[in-house]
Amino acid sequence: MAIIPDRQPYIQTINGDWYSYKIAEVAMLRLDVVHPVISGNKWYKLKYNIAFCKKKGIDTILSFGGAYSNHLSATAAAAKLSEIRSIGIIKGTYAKENLTPTLQSCIEYGMQLVFVSNEDYRRKNEFDYLNELAERYGNPFIIPEGGANDEGREGAGEIAALIPAGFSHVAVSVGTGSTLCGIVNNVQEGVHVAGFAPMKGGNYLNDEIRTYISQGRRGQYRVYDNWHFGGFGKHTEEQLSFMNQFYKLHNIPLDVVYTSKMMYGLREQIEAGVYPAEARILCVHTGGLQGNASIADALIY
Ligand SMILES: *Cc1c(COP(=O)(O)O)cnc(C)c1O
Repeated sequence: MAIIPDRQPYIQTINGDWYSYKIAEVAMLRLDVVHPVISGNKWYKLKYNIAFCKKKGIDTILSFGGAYSNHLSATAAAAKLSEIRSIGIIKGTYAKENLTPTLQSCIEYGMQLVFVSNEDYRRKNEFDYLNELAERYGNPFIIPEGGANDEGREGAGEIAALIPAGFSHVAVSVGTGSTLCGIVNNVQEGVHVAGFAPMKGGNYLNDEIRTYISQGRRGQYRVYDNWHFGGFGKHTEEQLSFMNQFYKLHNIPLDVVYTSKMMYGLREQIEAGVYPAEARILCVHTGGLQGNASIADALIY
Protein backbone atom coordinates (compact mmCIF):
# COMPACT_ATOMS: atom_id res chain seq x y z
CA MET A 1 0.00 0.00 0.00
CA ALA A 2 1.18 3.48 -0.82
CA ILE A 3 0.84 5.11 2.59
CA ILE A 4 4.10 4.90 4.44
CA PRO A 5 4.07 6.18 8.01
CA ASP A 6 6.97 8.50 8.72
CA ARG A 7 7.73 7.06 12.14
CA GLN A 8 6.86 4.15 14.37
CA PRO A 9 4.64 4.79 17.37
CA TYR A 10 6.30 4.45 20.78
CA ILE A 11 5.43 4.48 24.46
CA GLN A 12 6.53 7.45 26.53
CA THR A 13 6.67 7.19 30.30
CA ILE A 14 5.08 10.15 32.02
CA ASN A 15 6.84 11.74 34.98
CA GLY A 16 4.88 10.76 38.08
CA ASP A 17 4.97 13.99 40.08
CA TRP A 18 1.24 14.52 39.71
CA TYR A 19 -0.04 10.93 39.98
CA SER A 20 2.43 8.73 41.87
CA TYR A 21 0.78 9.47 45.24
CA LYS A 22 -2.33 7.72 43.88
CA ILE A 23 -1.40 5.11 41.24
CA ALA A 24 1.60 3.19 39.91
CA GLU A 25 2.07 4.45 36.36
CA VAL A 26 0.81 6.65 33.55
CA ALA A 27 2.36 6.35 30.10
CA MET A 28 1.39 7.52 26.67
CA LEU A 29 1.23 5.60 23.41
CA ARG A 30 2.38 8.17 20.89
CA LEU A 31 0.33 7.45 17.77
CA ASP A 32 0.49 11.14 16.94
CA VAL A 33 3.98 10.68 15.53
CA VAL A 34 3.16 8.21 12.73
CA HIS A 35 2.35 10.82 10.11
CA PRO A 36 2.03 14.62 10.20
CA VAL A 37 -1.51 14.62 8.85
CA ILE A 38 -2.79 11.04 8.81
CA SER A 39 -1.88 10.99 12.45
CA GLY A 40 -2.93 8.87 15.34
CA ASN A 41 -5.93 6.64 15.04
CA LYS A 42 -6.90 7.98 11.61
CA TRP A 43 -4.03 6.16 9.97
CA TYR A 44 -5.23 2.86 11.46
CA LYS A 45 -8.88 3.52 10.63
CA LEU A 46 -8.13 4.39 6.99
CA LYS A 47 -5.66 1.61 6.34
CA TYR A 48 -8.16 -1.13 5.47
CA ASN A 49 -10.48 1.29 3.69
CA ILE A 50 -7.68 2.25 1.31
CA ALA A 51 -6.57 -1.35 0.95
CA PHE A 52 -10.12 -2.36 0.05
CA CYS A 53 -10.29 0.28 -2.71
CA LYS A 54 -6.94 -0.79 -4.11
CA LYS A 55 -7.99 -4.43 -4.13
CA LYS A 56 -11.28 -3.67 -5.86
CA GLY A 57 -9.83 -1.11 -8.25
CA ILE A 58 -12.05 1.67 -6.88
CA ASP A 59 -10.54 5.02 -7.85
CA THR A 60 -12.56 7.42 -5.70
CA ILE A 61 -13.31 7.74 -1.98
CA LEU A 62 -16.11 9.88 -0.59
CA SER A 63 -16.54 10.76 3.05
CA PHE A 64 -18.20 13.24 5.40
CA GLY A 65 -17.10 15.77 7.97
CA GLY A 66 -17.38 19.18 9.54
CA ALA A 67 -15.06 22.11 9.01
CA TYR A 68 -12.66 20.86 11.70
CA SER A 69 -12.72 17.15 10.89
CA ASN A 70 -9.41 15.36 11.46
CA HIS A 71 -10.89 12.42 9.62
CA LEU A 72 -11.44 14.42 6.43
CA SER A 73 -7.95 15.88 6.22
CA ALA A 74 -6.49 12.46 6.98
CA THR A 75 -8.70 10.91 4.29
CA ALA A 76 -7.59 13.54 1.78
CA ALA A 77 -3.92 12.92 2.58
CA ALA A 78 -4.25 9.14 2.57
CA ALA A 79 -6.12 9.22 -0.74
CA LYS A 80 -3.52 11.45 -2.33
CA LEU A 81 -0.67 9.22 -1.19
CA SER A 82 -2.53 6.21 -2.56
CA GLU A 83 -3.40 7.95 -5.81
CA ILE A 84 -7.09 7.74 -5.16
CA ARG A 85 -9.46 10.63 -5.87
CA SER A 86 -11.24 12.00 -2.80
CA ILE A 87 -14.48 13.88 -2.27
CA GLY A 88 -15.51 15.46 1.03
CA ILE A 89 -19.13 16.22 1.83
CA ILE A 90 -18.90 19.18 4.19
CA LYS A 91 -21.48 20.07 6.78
CA GLY A 92 -22.76 23.64 6.31
CA THR A 93 -22.71 25.82 3.23
CA TYR A 94 -21.28 28.68 5.36
CA ALA A 95 -18.03 26.74 5.56
CA LYS A 96 -17.30 27.64 1.93
CA GLU A 97 -16.83 31.36 2.64
CA ASN A 98 -14.70 30.81 5.68
CA LEU A 99 -12.35 27.94 4.97
CA THR A 100 -10.80 26.56 8.14
CA PRO A 101 -7.16 25.40 8.14
CA THR A 102 -8.54 21.83 8.11
CA LEU A 103 -10.54 22.39 4.93
CA GLN A 104 -7.64 24.25 3.35
CA SER A 105 -5.43 21.25 3.96
CA CYS A 106 -8.09 19.00 2.41
CA ILE A 107 -7.97 21.15 -0.72
CA GLU A 108 -4.18 21.05 -0.71
CA TYR A 109 -4.38 17.27 -0.78
CA GLY A 110 -6.62 17.45 -3.80
CA MET A 111 -9.91 16.65 -2.12
CA GLN A 112 -12.98 17.95 -3.92
CA LEU A 113 -15.14 19.68 -1.33
CA VAL A 114 -18.92 19.66 -1.62
CA PHE A 115 -20.73 21.95 0.82
CA VAL A 116 -24.21 20.86 1.80
CA SER A 117 -26.87 22.26 4.10
CA ASN A 118 -27.12 20.93 7.63
CA GLU A 119 -30.39 19.36 6.53
CA ASP A 120 -28.77 17.36 3.74
CA TYR A 121 -25.85 16.52 5.97
CA ARG A 122 -28.15 14.89 8.47
CA ARG A 123 -29.02 12.35 5.76
CA LYS A 124 -25.42 11.14 5.65
CA ASN A 125 -26.34 7.60 6.67
CA GLU A 126 -29.55 7.31 4.63
CA PHE A 127 -29.59 4.75 1.88
CA ASP A 128 -31.32 7.06 -0.66
CA TYR A 129 -28.94 9.92 -0.07
CA LEU A 130 -25.91 7.67 -0.37
CA ASN A 131 -27.27 6.32 -3.65
CA GLU A 132 -27.73 9.84 -4.93
CA LEU A 133 -24.16 10.72 -4.02
CA ALA A 134 -22.84 7.51 -5.55
CA GLU A 135 -24.55 8.29 -8.82
CA ARG A 136 -23.42 11.90 -8.90
CA TYR A 137 -19.77 11.19 -8.08
CA GLY A 138 -19.02 8.08 -10.13
CA ASN A 139 -19.59 5.25 -7.65
CA PRO A 140 -17.00 6.11 -5.04
CA PHE A 141 -16.24 3.98 -2.02
CA ILE A 142 -18.21 5.75 0.73
CA ILE A 143 -16.68 5.95 4.18
CA PRO A 144 -19.05 7.12 6.93
CA GLU A 145 -18.32 10.21 9.01
CA GLY A 146 -15.34 9.66 11.30
CA GLY A 147 -14.29 6.51 9.42
CA ALA A 148 -16.77 4.51 11.47
CA ASN A 149 -17.11 1.31 9.46
CA ASP A 150 -15.96 -2.30 9.80
CA GLU A 151 -12.68 -1.55 8.03
CA GLY A 152 -12.11 1.34 10.44
CA ARG A 153 -12.76 -0.77 13.53
CA GLU A 154 -10.62 -3.58 12.17
CA GLY A 155 -7.73 -1.20 11.55
CA ALA A 156 -8.10 0.32 15.01
CA GLY A 157 -7.80 -3.21 16.38
CA GLU A 158 -4.15 -3.15 15.38
CA ILE A 159 -3.54 -0.49 18.02
CA ALA A 160 -4.13 -3.17 20.67
CA ALA A 161 -1.00 -4.99 19.52
CA LEU A 162 1.00 -1.92 20.57
CA ILE A 163 -0.16 -2.24 24.18
CA PRO A 164 2.35 -4.33 26.14
CA ALA A 165 1.37 -6.67 28.97
CA GLY A 166 1.43 -5.05 32.38
CA PHE A 167 -0.92 -2.17 31.77
CA SER A 168 -4.17 -2.55 33.71
CA HIS A 169 -6.03 0.30 32.01
CA VAL A 170 -6.10 2.06 28.66
CA ALA A 171 -7.44 5.60 28.24
CA VAL A 172 -8.62 6.69 24.81
CA SER A 173 -10.63 9.57 23.33
CA VAL A 174 -13.98 8.74 21.78
CA GLY A 175 -15.56 10.37 18.75
CA THR A 176 -17.49 7.67 16.95
CA GLY A 177 -16.04 5.04 19.27
CA SER A 178 -14.47 3.03 16.45
CA THR A 179 -11.01 3.27 17.95
CA LEU A 180 -12.27 2.23 21.37
CA CYS A 181 -14.09 -0.76 19.82
CA GLY A 182 -10.99 -1.92 18.01
CA ILE A 183 -8.95 -1.71 21.20
CA VAL A 184 -11.50 -3.35 23.51
CA ASN A 185 -12.02 -6.26 21.12
CA ASN A 186 -8.32 -6.96 20.70
CA VAL A 187 -6.59 -5.91 23.90
CA GLN A 188 -5.43 -8.53 26.41
CA GLU A 189 -8.17 -10.01 28.53
CA GLY A 190 -8.90 -8.08 31.71
CA VAL A 191 -7.50 -4.73 30.61
CA HIS A 192 -10.09 -2.04 31.27
CA VAL A 193 -10.60 0.70 28.66
CA ALA A 194 -11.74 4.16 29.73
CA GLY A 195 -13.21 6.22 26.90
CA PHE A 196 -13.36 10.02 27.12
CA ALA A 197 -16.03 11.67 24.98
CA PRO A 198 -15.37 15.35 24.20
CA MET A 199 -19.01 16.27 23.54
CA LYS A 200 -22.04 17.02 25.71
CA GLY A 201 -24.15 13.94 26.41
CA GLY A 202 -21.49 11.62 24.95
CA ASN A 203 -22.70 8.97 27.32
CA TYR A 204 -25.09 7.71 24.64
CA LEU A 205 -22.01 6.22 22.99
CA ASN A 206 -21.92 3.56 25.71
CA ASP A 207 -24.92 1.85 24.08
CA GLU A 208 -23.94 2.51 20.50
CA ILE A 209 -20.49 1.08 21.00
CA ARG A 210 -21.85 -1.98 22.76
CA THR A 211 -23.20 -3.52 19.56
CA TYR A 212 -19.69 -3.67 18.11
CA ILE A 213 -18.00 -5.15 21.17
CA SER A 214 -17.55 -8.91 21.41
CA GLN A 215 -19.93 -10.48 23.88
CA GLY A 216 -17.39 -11.45 26.51
CA ARG A 217 -15.86 -7.99 26.59
CA ARG A 218 -18.83 -5.75 27.16
CA GLY A 219 -17.92 -5.19 30.79
CA GLN A 220 -14.42 -4.12 29.89
CA TYR A 221 -15.00 -0.50 28.89
CA ARG A 222 -16.81 2.62 29.94
CA VAL A 223 -17.33 6.02 28.27
CA TYR A 224 -17.17 9.20 30.37
CA ASP A 225 -18.60 12.49 29.11
CA ASN A 226 -17.94 14.79 32.08
CA TRP A 227 -15.07 16.65 30.42
CA HIS A 228 -16.56 18.28 27.32
CA PHE A 229 -15.50 21.88 28.14
CA GLY A 230 -18.63 23.38 26.58
CA GLY A 231 -19.16 20.80 23.84
CA PHE A 232 -17.56 19.24 20.79
CA GLY A 233 -14.96 21.56 19.22
CA LYS A 234 -15.30 24.04 22.09
CA HIS A 235 -12.60 24.83 24.61
CA THR A 236 -11.93 26.93 27.69
CA GLU A 237 -9.00 29.07 28.87
CA GLU A 238 -8.35 26.58 31.63
CA GLN A 239 -8.07 23.81 29.07
CA LEU A 240 -5.57 25.78 27.00
CA SER A 241 -3.39 26.46 30.02
CA PHE A 242 -3.57 22.75 30.91
CA MET A 243 -2.31 21.96 27.40
CA ASN A 244 0.62 24.37 27.77
CA GLN A 245 1.43 23.04 31.23
CA PHE A 246 1.28 19.43 29.98
CA TYR A 247 3.65 20.31 27.16
CA LYS A 248 6.09 21.99 29.54
CA LEU A 249 6.08 19.01 31.91
CA HIS A 250 6.14 16.15 29.41
CA ASN A 251 7.05 17.59 26.05
CA ILE A 252 3.85 16.12 24.60
CA PRO A 253 1.60 18.30 22.44
CA LEU A 254 -2.06 17.48 23.08
CA ASP A 255 -4.83 18.44 20.67
CA VAL A 256 -7.63 20.78 21.63
CA VAL A 257 -10.58 18.65 20.46
CA TYR A 258 -9.83 15.26 21.99
CA THR A 259 -6.67 14.34 23.85
CA SER A 260 -6.41 17.44 26.09
CA LYS A 261 -9.93 16.82 27.38
CA MET A 262 -9.04 13.18 28.00
CA MET A 263 -5.87 13.96 29.94
CA TYR A 264 -7.60 16.64 31.97
CA GLY A 265 -10.37 14.20 32.83
CA LEU A 266 -7.99 11.38 33.60
CA ARG A 267 -6.04 13.61 35.98
CA GLU A 268 -9.23 14.49 37.83
CA GLN A 269 -10.22 10.84 38.00
CA ILE A 270 -6.83 9.86 39.39
CA GLU A 271 -7.01 12.63 41.99
CA ALA A 272 -10.51 11.48 42.94
CA GLY A 273 -9.25 7.95 43.54
CA VAL A 274 -11.14 6.30 40.69
CA TYR A 275 -8.26 3.91 39.95
CA PRO A 276 -6.69 1.40 42.35
CA ALA A 277 -3.18 2.06 43.71
CA GLU A 278 -1.63 -0.62 41.50
CA ALA A 279 -3.15 0.80 38.29
CA ARG A 280 -0.88 1.20 35.29
CA ILE A 281 -2.64 3.36 32.73
CA LEU A 282 -1.62 3.63 29.09
CA CYS A 283 -3.11 6.73 27.43
CA VAL A 284 -3.49 6.61 23.67
CA HIS A 285 -2.41 9.80 21.92
CA THR A 286 -4.76 9.66 18.95
CA GLY A 287 -3.16 12.63 17.19
CA GLY A 288 -5.37 15.34 15.77
CA LEU A 289 -2.71 18.01 16.11
CA GLN A 290 -3.62 19.64 12.80
CA GLY A 291 -6.78 20.82 14.58
CA ASN A 292 -4.67 23.06 16.82
CA ALA A 293 -4.04 25.43 13.91
CA SER A 294 -7.10 27.46 14.88
CA ILE A 295 -5.75 28.15 18.40
CA ALA A 296 -2.05 28.31 17.53
CA ASP A 297 -1.65 31.77 19.11
CA ALA A 298 -2.69 30.49 22.54
CA LEU A 299 -0.22 27.59 22.58
CA ILE A 300 3.48 27.51 23.36
CA TYR A 301 4.00 24.69 20.83
C1 LIG B 1 -11.00 11.21 15.30
C2 LIG B 1 -10.32 11.31 16.59
C3 LIG B 1 -10.76 10.58 17.72
C4 LIG B 1 -12.02 9.77 17.71
O1 LIG B 1 -11.85 8.51 17.16
P1 LIG B 1 -13.12 7.52 17.01
O2 LIG B 1 -12.55 6.30 16.44
O3 LIG B 1 -14.07 8.18 16.06
O4 LIG B 1 -13.73 7.36 18.34
C5 LIG B 1 -10.01 10.67 18.89
N1 LIG B 1 -8.92 11.45 18.96
C6 LIG B 1 -8.48 12.17 17.92
C7 LIG B 1 -7.29 13.03 18.08
C8 LIG B 1 -9.16 12.13 16.71
O5 LIG B 1 -8.73 12.88 15.68
